[in-house]
Amino acid sequence: MSVHNKSRRKFIGNGAKAAAAVVIASGAASLLQSCAGTKKIVPAVANKFVTGFAQATLPYAYNALENVIDAQTMELHYSKHAAAYTKNMNDARRELGLDVGNTVSTVEQLLATISKYNAKLRNNAGGHYNHEMFWQCMRPKKESNMPSGALLAAIEKYFTSFADFKNQFAAAGTGRFGSGWAWLYADANKNIKIGSTANQDNPLMDVSEIKGFPLLALDVWEHAYYLKYQNKRADYIENWWQVVNWDYVAARFATL
Ligand code: MN
Repeated sequence: MSVHNKSRRKFIGNGAKAAAAVVIASGAASLLQSCAGTKKIVPAVANKFVTGFAQATLPYAYNALENVIDAQTMELHYSKHAAAYTKNMNDARRELGLDVGNTVSTVEQLLATISKYNAKLRNNAGGHYNHEMFWQCMRPKKESNMPSGALLAAIEKYFTSFADFKNQFAAAGTGRFGSGWAWLYADANKNIKIGSTANQDNPLMDVSEIKGFPLLALDVWEHAYYLKYQNKRADYIENWWQVVNWDYVAARFATL
């Protein structure tokens, strides 16, 4: 049983709370009505790492990550590329008869059983999840940006030093041929690992070569960096460390 499955099971153990969280996350008024019609929904403190079926608001302005990631890239990436994954995911699940709050409750649930579905759902549910996480993995740049506390201790335990970790993670990103993602993730035994996935796959998918709970996500598709960095993916990754939101990564790590 993966770490993720364990936390998800705990989360969906309370049906009413799960339904409420889905409603809150998706922002779907019709869902709210249908749920409210059958049972009073008490707004719950949702597991904040459960992903809704709608795009969450970007937690900063398009230009907030300048000059690591330029505003135009952020705008296109969020409002065009990522928005399309979200739309196409929802189209795909409707075509498959998957109703949120009824036959499916979370994006994570879809990903864990993605082998049952078609390529359209795999590509777009992955694209939706990965980008929703990616935005949270970043924040306006800070001097000497690095993790601390238990997360730093774990990184030093598994990768010797923070510098070595960055080198290995960057290598996963630059080494991914074509489009994909680099990940820091926890496997089923809570061991912290670095890996990469092709296209929009991720470690939550039952079809993925690397499996576990994602802690940090880096988009290495050309659309994430090409306007500013052109072919220089390594330069994009080198600069990206300045905007990694280590508080967010630490919060995910704390759920293990
Ligand atoms: Mn992307």
